[in-house]
Amino acid sequence: KEYAEISIKDIDRVANSSFPLCMRHLFDKLREEHHLKHGGRMQLGLFLKGVGLKLDDALAFWRVEFSKKVGTEKFDKEYSYNIRHNYGKEGKRTDYTPYSCQRIITSTPGVGDHHGCPYRHFSEENLRAALSKMGVSSRTADDVMDKVRHRHYQLACTLTFEAIHSCSCDAGINHPNQYFTESQKILQQ
Ligand code: SF4
Repeated sequence: KEYAEISIKDIDRVANSSFPLCMRHLFDKLREEHHLKHGGRMQLGLFLKGVGLKLDDALAFWRVEFSKKVGTEKFDKEYSYNIRHNYGKEGKRTDYTPYSCQRIITSTPGVGDHHGCPYRHFSEENLRAALSKMGVSSRTADDVMDKVRHRHYQLACTLTFEAIHSCSCDAGINHPNQYFTESQKILQQ
């Protein structure tokens, strides 16, 4: 892969510049609450693996946050297995792949969950606030909301991408890791 590796020191910078809203939201919530429920850990964890975070860095990344909430010991005992598992280092040693938009959009986050697709699962008010935080103008946000009302969530995400990167994304967004790769391509030009 072309952009095969990011390290833990780059993560805040690339989260800010190149994560789609679904992953930014999880990333922010993890930093804020030092915890994510299972669905969020899977969605963000596999995405980070997909952007090239190595297993050791992934363990360190989750450990720093979770330790603030549950303590290091509990993290090592209860959560690190899951991360190694996602990297195919435990259990059946399946190499799990990151979730597509389709899968994320059709997921059903419950109370206290932060996974899912914000274009599908946020209220209009929360989505507008999140878009504004990403630097999207209110006019573009109106266009985004129009796509959302027609249930074109990936088109809504594509519009956001285009607004943030000031360019057109003809392929459209269909995978969070594709969003990331397209973004990095543009920013590294
Ligand atoms: Fe994430 Fe895809 Fe939703 Fe965009 S459309 S926020 S990449 S799930």
